[in-house]
Amino acid sequence: MDSGMTSMWRARVLTIFPDMFPGPLGVSLLGQALDRGLWSIDAIDIRAFAEDKHASVDDLPFGGGPGMVMRPDVVGRAIESAQTADPDLQVVYVTPRGTPLQQAQVKTLAAGPGIITVCGRFEGIDQRVMEAYPGEEVSLGDYVLSGGELPAMTLIDACVRLLPGVIGAEASLEEESFESGLLEYPQYTRPRTWRGMDVPDVLLSGHHENVKVWRNSQAEEITRQRRPDLWDRHQRGNI
Ligand code: SAH
Repeated sequence: MDSGMTSMWRARVLTIFPDMFPGPLGVSLLGQALDRGLWSIDAIDIRAFAEDKHASVDDLPFGGGPGMVMRPDVVGRAIESAQTADPDLQVVYVTPRGTPLQQAQVKTLAAGPGIITVCGRFEGIDQRVMEAYPGEEVSLGDYVLSGGELPAMTLIDACVRLLPGVIGAEASLEEESFESGLLEYPQYTRPRTWRGMDVPDVLLSGHHENVKVWRNSQAEEITRQRRPDLWDRHQRGNI
């Protein structure tokens, strides 16, 4: 499914497991948006760019040590082919050594034409690839996964849900966690009483200003307790 020359947001994913895509990105609102042509995804098999008879994509690390490293010649050809097909896309490497992904970066990537994401496997990718094809290096968090495919899906999900028309109520995007630099306030729905616990009165009052004040104070309190790092930044921003 090649996206061709359109202005839809495009993801080109370089992976040795192209069958994993679109996977979870093909269901629900993102899947419907994919069907409606609001975005596109091309999963490209890195192995198709191997040239030896075993189609190897990895080799032993120079200097010794455990595991295997993805070869620069093979990954390089895969990136080059994706760039030739769509030169406007931003290259993004997913790696535990990258900058932790934040909503601000997601917004910037979503506002552009799309991304070429390179998924590592084994011990990662030969360093020279990142030098030959500079791109953003993004981490999903301080833990190690077995491959870059889930991080790539996470990144694409975060971008696509921001595209116009993907999520029905765009206002719902504005009140979310991180938008104001705070975590989101707690949410409630029916029934009004469940297991002896009542929904806070203020939410039933119909008084929009009071609801807003309550939600804001809850968001502040939760952020202060759970994420002192965000709270500090929020307070500095407010000075
Ligand atoms: N040896 C590497 C880890 C390799 S894990 C190290 O210690 O840094 C294999 C691949 O999974 C990586 O190349 C990367 O693409 C992906 N990956 C693993 N953890 C990740 C994380 N926290 N964020 C983004 N990508 C990750």
